Amino acid sequence: MEATKIQLSEKETPRQWYNIQADLPFELPPVIHPGTGKPIGPDDLAPLFPMALILQEVSRERYIDIPEPVQEIYRLYRPTPLYRARRLEKALDTPAHIYYKYEGVSPPGSHKPNTAIAQAFYNKEEGAKRLSTETGAGQWGSALAFACNLFGLECQVFMVKVSYNQKPYRRVLMETWGAEVIPSPSPRTKAGRDVLAQDPNSPGSLGIAISEAVEAAVTTPGSKYSLGSVLNHVLMHQTVVGLEAKRQLEMAGDYPDVVVGCIGGGSNFSGFALPFVRDKIVEGKKTRIIAVEPTASPSLTKGLYTYDFGDTARTTPLIKMYTLGHTFIPAPIHAGGLRYHGMAPIVCALYDHGIIEAVALPQVPVFEAAVRFARAEGIVPAPESAHAVKVVIDEALRCRESGERKVLAFNLSGHGFFDLAAYEEYFAGKLQNYEYPEEKVKEALQALPQLAL
Ligand SMILES: *Cc1c(COP(=O)(O)O)cnc(C)c1O
Repeated sequence: MEATKIQLSEKETPRQWYNIQADLPFELPPVIHPGTGKPIGPDDLAPLFPMALILQEVSRERYIDIPEPVQEIYRLYRPTPLYRARRLEKALDTPAHIYYKYEGVSPPGSHKPNTAIAQAFYNKEEGAKRLSTETGAGQWGSALAFACNLFGLECQVFMVKVSYNQKPYRRVLMETWGAEVIPSPSPRTKAGRDVLAQDPNSPGSLGIAISEAVEAAVTTPGSKYSLGSVLNHVLMHQTVVGLEAKRQLEMAGDYPDVVVGCIGGGSNFSGFALPFVRDKIVEGKKTRIIAVEPTASPSLTKGLYTYDFGDTARTTPLIKMYTLGHTFIPAPIHAGGLRYHGMAPIVCALYDHGIIEAVALPQVPVFEAAVRFARAEGIVPAPESAHAVKVVIDEALRCRESGERKVLAFNLSGHGFFDLAAYEEYFAGKLQNYEYPEEKVKEALQALPQLAL
């Protein structure tokens, strides 16, 4: 019997992260200061982030050592397994080989601690006492709470108020790891008080929560801010996923023809895909690399590639990215982690240069694929990860028609145990598809900052 679960030994696990910036065949557009219109420098970011992370953000070094204390915590759940989805292949009657890397085995249940642990480490090293962040449904907040706890840092999480009230379990998880969770908008910050003065019943938004977390970090001595996706250093920390997967595929005697991941801010997709992007750029491999987004939040497939703010409150630097506009208000789809208006600059540049592809999917067929996967493989995917599942199932079915024995590999970024209410809605036939209207994209793009670039 050939292997179903392909496991690396601790000795074979990566000791370095891969930095794609060393191999990009183009320059990344600079990040711009909204006040001066000039590229920002390290000093502009120093109130928010430790210097080690600021330097990683712009580093051209190809491989960066993973500090030993970070590796030690990674060993709680890494290396993660790569599975050959033999039962799914059989159920689909496909000649394709399907592989998935499973990041749901981390204590918070997703890939997010891969960067949370690294960020907590560098902050602690440079003397921070507390990290502030925002969270929507709570996946990032729980990853950071977990990491801060292990390094003895305080963790303050501004959680979008509507989720705070409706989704208590991730909040309890954060509190279990010792974090302070504050419903946002809150009276703690000027940003929060301003919103509350206008609308005491504001349900909050990720944009407001970002403004509160940033303000709390820069106005409190010993505090820094932490971001769970989008930035170059976050994507780099996630490359442990793809580096492991590449070795595991080698052990299985396969190399992927198609690499798939879902995209919200772009971190789990990049972590899995960038080592294969490297092979495409450096060795001329012909791999198809596909990023999957929801039709309700279609940054790559419908957005404009231009400079925009990272947050609704216009507090961040300007980043060149595929954006739906910072005023974008997402539909209430269940893949909460995919509802961001922009996208990681590295993912955007790769897409712009035709090195990766993108597709957008509505949520009903995504849940259908998730249930099909769960019934074949046992693991219940997070709604975000299910977007990748759907693309792979469709490709495997095309292989059944054509008889091609393609190798398909995807990142199963997390489990869906905190999303069972969404599955329940799907079973009850209550889930709706949302298509973000073209007019709204155009409208939101009117509010883009004007830059003389
Ligand atoms: C947060 C999250 C995502 C989306 O974020 P990326 O930065 O695009 O990876 C995807 N899957 C899971 C399970 C998540 O928690």
